[in-house]
Amino acid sequence: KTARTPLMAGNWKMNLDHLQATHLVQKLDWTLRDARHDFDAVEVVVLPPFTDLRSVQTLVQGDKLRLGFGGQDLSQHDDGAYTGEISGAFLAKLGCTYVVVGHSERRQYHAEDDDVVSAKVRAALRHGLTPLLCVGEDLEVRQAGRQVEHVVDQLRGALSGLEADQVARVVVAYEPVWAIGTGEVATPQDAQEVCSAIRSAVRELAGAEVADGMRVLYGGSVKPGNVAEIMAQDDVDGALVGGASLSVDDFAAICRYQQ
Ligand code: PEP
Repeated sequence: KTARTPLMAGNWKMNLDHLQATHLVQKLDWTLRDARHDFDAVEVVVLPPFTDLRSVQTLVQGDKLRLGFGGQDLSQHDDGAYTGEISGAFLAKLGCTYVVVGHSERRQYHAEDDDVVSAKVRAALRHGLTPLLCVGEDLEVRQAGRQVEHVVDQLRGALSGLEADQVARVVVAYEPVWAIGTGEVATPQDAQEVCSAIRSAVRELAGAEVADGMRVLYGGSVKPGNVAEIMAQDDVDGALVGGASLSVDDFAAICRYQQ
């Protein structure tokens, strides 16, 4: 675990216009610098709406901020007649290093199945972006006790056909759907159970070295008050944070969970 740099990623979802985004990023940077945050020890990333990315890029690159940024989705295609879609090439050109793929809200409201998610993982890799691949079970699956099986199936679907060196470039986020935006957080043991199963599945798919190096995040109602115990789990290497990433103080406190 010590060899894996923890990653805190803030998924803003469809919140904050480009002016609000500029304010938040500036304030987040000031707050973290003021607290002498070691960005090499805990990586910090924001995931704004597409229309904010140019403003965020200008700030981050212009003022040499240590924050990373990325998109919340991308097209499986590279260009062409796909009205409303955004190519990974465009994201890469704007300085994005990450892109969320297969978020439960995309799976649920935009009917993204494992094949689409897999095509998007490949598109991200093709454009040099790190996919933040989301997997997670809904309440029904959890109540039936089938969460590990379900999540490992989603993972295999998303990574199918990739070479080990491609799998090594993916970050996985375990996000139980029943814990997203509900205030209902998985227990640290629940998070560990599934994150460890994810790592074992990656070991089978791509070997021990890739599995040991892969970052597996937890997401679902992460807050300053619960992040430390989740991060204390052996196979949890960071958090994908929705609601709490819209508050600078909360997100900065989450990034500084070690203090
Ligand atoms: C998310 O949507 O990725 C998420 C984890 O949301 P929240 O933190 O609000 O539960």
